[in-house]
Amino acid sequence: MARRGISILKGIEAQEVINLLNRAYCDEWLAYYQYFVEAKVVKGIMKDAAIVELNQHAADELRHATMLSGRILQLGGTPILHPDEWLKYANCKYEAPKNFDVRAILDQAISGEQCAIGTYSNLLELVRDKDIVTYDLVSQILADEVEHEEDLQSLFDDIETFMAQFKV
Ligand code: MG
Ligand code: FE
Ligand code: FE
Repeated sequence: MARRGISILKGIEAQEVINLLNRAYCDEWLAYYQYFVEAKVVKGIMKDAAIVELNQHAADELRHATMLSGRILQLGGTPILHPDEWLKYANCKYEAPKNFDVRAILDQAISGEQCAIGTYSNLLELVRDKDIVTYDLVSQILADEVEHEEDLQSLFDDIETFMAQFKV
């Protein structure tokens, strides 16, 4: 445990930051799996474009889990060890895909990103001016989540526009 590194926290306990990071860590694993499995089952118009985006996002969410676990360890904590805990501690729900249509899948993924954006915005407020390293790391993740929402929304809008051309 890096004592000097931890000593720079101001007005927040390392354990409190660890708990917040661990909750986000659970979200990232669930987000990773949701994208992973959505990319497998998605059907319908322009699904190839959706698969590329879903797989890219899966890789990003897994990278976020790596970033969070690194910071948890720096603070002297342990990343959540059992997948059973993921659903218990996650901030956002896990929505198993039911409708495999590309628009339904994208819609569900957009909601997931919106939840992630809310979660990380709150986390930033809690560590602002207290833990600058966590603040910086979470800011990077938040920027990715904002990009994810935009990528999915613009793909969704393109599909809607494309389909509208076939309506009388
Ligand atoms: Mg993307
Ligand atoms: Fe993420
Ligand atoms: Fe994301």
